[in-house]
Amino acid sequence: LRKRVVAEAPAPGTQLFVEGGGPGKAFRDLPLSRITLQGLDRNKFSAMTDIQLAAVPHALAGRDVLGAAKTGSGKTLAFVVPLLEKLYREGWALSDGLGALIITPTRELALQIFEVLRTVGKGHMFSAALLTGGKKEFREEQARVPRMNIIVATPGRLLQHLEETPGFDASQLQVLVLDEADRILDMGFSRQLNAILAYLPPGAGRQTLLFSATQTKSVKDLARLSLDKNSEYVGVHDTA
Ligand code: ADP
Ligand code: MG
Repeated sequence: LRKRVVAEAPAPGTQLFVEGGGPGKAFRDLPLSRITLQGLDRNKFSAMTDIQLAAVPHALAGRDVLGAAKTGSGKTLAFVVPLLEKLYREGWALSDGLGALIITPTRELALQIFEVLRTVGKGHMFSAALLTGGKKEFREEQARVPRMNIIVATPGRLLQHLEETPGFDASQLQVLVLDEADRILDMGFSRQLNAILAYLPPGAGRQTLLFSATQTKSVKDLARLSLDKNSEYVGVHDTA
């Protein structure tokens, strides 16, 4: 992993469109689709937070990102925006199946992410599902899963679908997001996570965005396992 600190200029090739001469710190200074910008505007997101400023340009440029920033720093939009842009640029359609997968440790976090995805991604034509239900909802989820473009899930439930749901095909996955990777591992999901990774196309065939509040040894091991060699490390707030 190459280290890059937030204060450095973005890597060559990163396009930052600057308005008014100042450094590009607003979402609208990035080369985003009008649909995504409208989604951000509608929700009053204009200036980027530090982690968004550090991570989004690299992610838009197609690089894998390992992002470290404390809770409340705005990590959700740091992956939701690039993910929407990637699928939009690819011309991803309903019939293309699973394009992006977001894995997060708890149902509450999954629901929060899903809400951001729904509101900011509103103008896009992607189907999206939240897979965190209890036992009762599994069959009902199974009926929808094969038609979904974007899935937000907890590790155990996702693995259950990968193993048991007919027609659930992750082989064309474009973007994998591992949110709160430290907590995923702390909560003992590392076996499930490894089993999930085995169902996905290899690292080179997809973009991986890994976010964590802390950089523990196990997060670094997971990064080695799931990220491309040319990934960018972006850390803000001096997380360990
Ligand atoms: P994290 O995942 O790092 O804990 P979240 O993505 O949940 O942080 O964001 C924390 C809060 O900050 C949320 O209420 C979110 O709406 C708000 N937020 C995120 N990005 C921005 C932004 N660019 N401008 C204003 N508020 C933001
Ligand atoms: Mg978060």
